[in-house]
Amino acid sequence: MKFEITILGCGSATPTLLRNPTSQVVNVMERYLMIDCAEGTQLQLRKYKVAFQKIDHIFISHLHGDHYLGLVGLISSFHLFGRNKTLHIYGPSDLERIIFDQLKASKTFLCYQVEFHSLDSNKSELIFEDSILEVHTIPLKHRIYCNGFLFKEKKKERRLSKELIAKYNIPVEMMPKLKNGEDPIGKGWEDIKNQDLTLPAHRSRSYAFCSDTLYTESIVPLIQNVDVLYHESTFLNDMKDRAKSTFHSTAQQAANIALLANVNSLLLGHYSARYNSSIDFENEAKEVFKNVKAVRDGDVISIPI
Ligand SMILES: [Zn+2]
Ligand SMILES: [Zn+2]
Repeated sequence: MKFEITILGCGSATPTLLRNPTSQVVNVMERYLMIDCAEGTQLQLRKYKVAFQKIDHIFISHLHGDHYLGLVGLISSFHLFGRNKTLHIYGPSDLERIIFDQLKASKTFLCYQVEFHSLDSNKSELIFEDSILEVHTIPLKHRIYCNGFLFKEKKKERRLSKELIAKYNIPVEMMPKLKNGEDPIGKGWEDIKNQDLTLPAHRSRSYAFCSDTLYTESIVPLIQNVDVLYHESTFLNDMKDRAKSTFHSTAQQAANIALLANVNSLLLGHYSARYNSSIDFENEAKEVFKNVKAVRDGDVISIPI
């Protein structure tokens, strides 16, 4: 029942010996979804032992190099490894041309399908769903078109316990309806309610990734009450003018958003290379919002059931 985020890179702009630029992998019950794919991401995948052949969906927030320059390399490596599953890529529409022009120039004919999902809306939209998970865009305010992504488990079914199944001798064909919250029907079940036979559903967990952005409260309704919010904090607050002019945020501003959205915990990242330590980011944010972590490459954050 995993819901786990692995930080592959938490720096901004250029790779340094301390930090790789942005990439993360979200594992929701063995679905591996990548967010951004900066230069060097393949090495980070190896270093932190992520099962990267399992990645079937890659979400690219925007077309600044520190968020996507590792993508074509990763696509090529999948080809060299003999991948045969379709790879789904979600990103700004220009990315499709960038990927396929590079493959064409090197006369690379992939042995698997790449399905490109073009993002160009300025409104939040549902871009992926399966039986357990939904992914929505979070439109951000950056120098170029940019989205964050909200990963949200679907509403879960009520649970059956071994004890209750044995106690009431529940027939197999009745189980799907019970999980769906329906009362049992039929002879002998008249006085028994669904709540007598099932346990409450586990809650649905959620993770919001907010990529490069100016401080904007427009995202608050979209990320309300999420379990974990990642919000960029390129600068500390003494550089808030610089943050504004470059369409970035400070640690204090990220904490303000976390507070307004009533999230459970906040992750900070995308630190400018001028800062060697991330602890000042954490301390600055803590003055506004207590449950905060300034992430480092290789951190794994689990969202409990
Ligand atoms: Zn960036
Ligand atoms: Zn950017």
